[in-house]
Amino acid sequence: MIVVLKPEAAEKDIEFVSEKIRKMGLKPHVSKGEERTIIGAIGDEALIKEDQLRALRIVEKVMPILKPYKLVSREFKPRDTLLNIGGVEIGGKKLVIIAGPCSVESREQIILTAKEVKKAGASMLRGGAFKPRTSPYTFQGLGEEGLKLLQEAKKETGLPIVTEVMDTGDVSLIAKYADVLQIGARNMQNFQLLKAVGKVKKPVLLKRGMSATLKELLMSAEYIMSEGNHEVILCERGIRTFVEYSRNTLDLNIVPEIKKHTHLPILVDPSHGTGKYDLVSPMSKAAVACGADGLIIEVHNNPEEAISDGDQSLTPKNFAQLMKELKPVAEAVGRKL
Ligand code: PEP
Ligand code: MN
Repeated sequence: MIVVLKPEAAEKDIEFVSEKIRKMGLKPHVSKGEERTIIGAIGDEALIKEDQLRALRIVEKVMPILKPYKLVSREFKPRDTLLNIGGVEIGGKKLVIIAGPCSVESREQIILTAKEVKKAGASMLRGGAFKPRTSPYTFQGLGEEGLKLLQEAKKETGLPIVTEVMDTGDVSLIAKYADVLQIGARNMQNFQLLKAVGKVKKPVLLKRGMSATLKELLMSAEYIMSEGNHEVILCERGIRTFVEYSRNTLDLNIVPEIKKHTHLPILVDPSHGTGKYDLVSPMSKAAVACGADGLIIEVHNNPEEAISDGDQSLTPKNFAQLMKELKPVAEAVGRKL
């Protein structure tokens, strides 16, 4: 349920209504807009005494949230969510570009790649230390050693770190090193994991499952937010279709569509979305043109020797070229790089 307060509502009124909601057994969530304050009542709607809320003089109207997702919905928070991660803004006018290798492989590889992507204008570094691999016989990541190398790369470049967490048991370890916890496509509906990252104070990059609908992606974000962590970034990374020429089909439709439904920022991953390095640049531009808040791109200092995803990784040179070409596209749609 959404409770819209009258424009003159003061702090004490907001607290009064919030307390009333708490007493009904629900959780209030306050969202202050320029003109109105909205309080969401989160929990079992059957507990809400709608008439009592409507009777409060400071309340302008009480409306049900018709969507199954509440905290993520635009009805609930009309204005875009703006995150600040170590000085890097996500969801604002400036696009965020996260770049780095699929996996952290060695000190030399991650430091070199980090320096190159920083030089080209990336604002965060990606790299997997715990890798979700299709085969149990392939490289599974360096684990904590990989996290330590990411930390070194951060010290060298100042770039905040984005890295994947696959297991509830690793959340606190990874949260010690990472600036953003990535939930991979395969874990988008690992509800225990979503609840676990919902309990930590670290932004979460939630990647769309390979056959997840828009509603399922938003419900997964709702899992994280309902545990108290409201710093969620969505990511389109391609879905499975009948198409055989590319690894996945990058569903760019979801970018403008999802913005109608949620205030959360959405990034696009053209690397996993295509699986081919030569498609990364055109799809990056398309993603920016259709309103993505940024990109997450695989870059490797030597893709031919990469242990994972070399075929979809850009060289530092190609990445620098892409950054140059992205600039006018960003400006054409009112964004900055
Ligand atoms: C990744 O970004 O490293 C990754 C494994 O991506 P996804 O979960 O989208 O497959
Ligand atoms: Mn990868």
